[in-house]
Amino acid sequence: MKELAAGVNRFQRDVYPARAALFAQLATTHRPPALFISCSDARVVPELITQREPGELFVIRTAGNLVPPYAPGADGVAASIEYAVGVLGVTDVIVCGHSGCGAMTALAAGSDLTELPAVADWLRHAEASKARTDAGSHPAGAETVAALIRDNVLSQLANLRTHPSVVRALAREQLTLHGWVYDIASGAVAELDATSGQFAELVG
Ligand code: ZN
Repeated sequence: MKELAAGVNRFQRDVYPARAALFAQLATTHRPPALFISCSDARVVPELITQREPGELFVIRTAGNLVPPYAPGADGVAASIEYAVGVLGVTDVIVCGHSGCGAMTALAAGSDLTELPAVADWLRHAEASKARTDAGSHPAGAETVAALIRDNVLSQLANLRTHPSVVRALAREQLTLHGWVYDIASGAVAELDATSGQFAELVG
């Protein structure tokens, strides 16, 4: 914890003054062009991967980068999506999976989650992802997890399309959905080709 406090101190002393103009503008302006949905995994840092400044990414992070399909009732993920798309008017949404995802590994392995009932319940939002992978002809082992990580991005994009704010923005052609997978070991980012359903290296 001491490291965190020291970090805040360093931020206030060195970083903030050097970017004072940016922070002054951000104090009254919130207009991020993109919504980035990633896993909560500490190794996935959206702003670092995409080299974005503060104010440029609206971020939702959940275990396994899961997006529950729209359903009436209180839902923090749904509210954040609705606000980003309906109020902030983001033009792009990226669902980003990543290598070595603990949630996807547990799902692929059929891990015993009796001690983790909230995790077990949450991972039900990835049932379609698992079904997608099970239906494919993927070899066993690590490749199964890699396939599930990709298939999960496809399924969560489908879930995203059940949210009314997303449906409206897509119908007005004001929104584009993207699927990415970030590889921690290499820094590579693969992007989903919506037409083929295949992932290929992201071209900048
Ligand atoms: Zn993860």
